[in-house]
Amino acid sequence: MTDPHCIFCKIVSKEIEASIIYEDDTCLAFMDITPVTKGHALVVPKQHYANLSECDDEVLRGVISVVRKISPAVKNAMDAEGILLQTLEGSAAGQEVFHLHFHIIPRTTGDGLILFPKKAMQERDALNDLAESIKAELK
Ligand code: 5GP
Ligand code: ZN
Repeated sequence: MTDPHCIFCKIVSKEIEASIIYEDDTCLAFMDITPVTKGHALVVPKQHYANLSECDDEVLRGVISVVRKISPAVKNAMDAEGILLQTLEGSAAGQEVFHLHFHIIPRTTGDGLILFPKKAMQERDALNDLAESIKAELK
């Protein structure tokens, strides 16, 4: 399963260049071309899945296990203090490349990356209502 128009499929097939960290039968890990912090890396399945929801469970297990393997290596190599893992789903969430990928982003105190601006605490009743509507979707 590949998509001839997909940039990450082209990286997987080595049609276009990337700085590869790790490769196995299922996954590829490489450096992000526009890093948000130094050492920002990506892990992708070799097969084309648009996002996490569409990914086959077994492939996802392989991808996550590579994410776990690569993360401490990125952190140690960059002398970082923490790691942010992120996957986006849909343009509204900021997804730009529609081939599943996990961002591995090394974090250091004061690196200036702002993810979740502080918000007001919600009332319990409102949170319970939201939880119920999501639980209904699970049935
Ligand atoms: P998204 O917003 O879809 O989660 O992130 C896509 C990521 O892919 C971005 O961080 C972007 O810098 C990275 N990216 C886009 N095109 C290329 C490319 O050709 N090579 C590499 N290595 N990364 C890319
Ligand atoms: Zn692809």
